Amino acid sequence: MHELAITQSMFDLVLEQAEKAGAKKVRKINLVIGEMTGVVEDCVRFYFDFLSKGTLAEKAALSFVMVPLKVRCRGCGKAFELKEFNWTCPYCQGNGMEIIAGKELFVESIEVE
Ligand SMILES: [Zn+2]
Repeated sequence: MHELAITQSMFDLVLEQAEKAGAKKVRKINLVIGEMTGVVEDCVRFYFDFLSKGTLAEKAALSFVMVPLKVRCRGCGKAFELKEFNWTCPYCQGNGMEIIAGKELFVESIEVE
């Protein structure tokens, strides 16, 4: 259920920005979501439709950029994309990892009229 809270805060931010810009309508919202957040695109769409009814952002298009989970091995220092949450370094078989991408969750930009 955490998509509801996430969508709510994203939606509040979008409306705030749109109002500040004196917009009549929000046309498009560009979102960046990291794989590590576990946020499901369809859930965000569903909650967004629900929250945006009767607001400036009603029927706005949602565009998602998904960021794959990337880590750096603490053992050998190599960076790579983590597949299927397999926390073993393919280079040195170590399992000490630092996450360098995939935790993103933000509104990159909005397009208004
Ligand atoms: Zn390694």
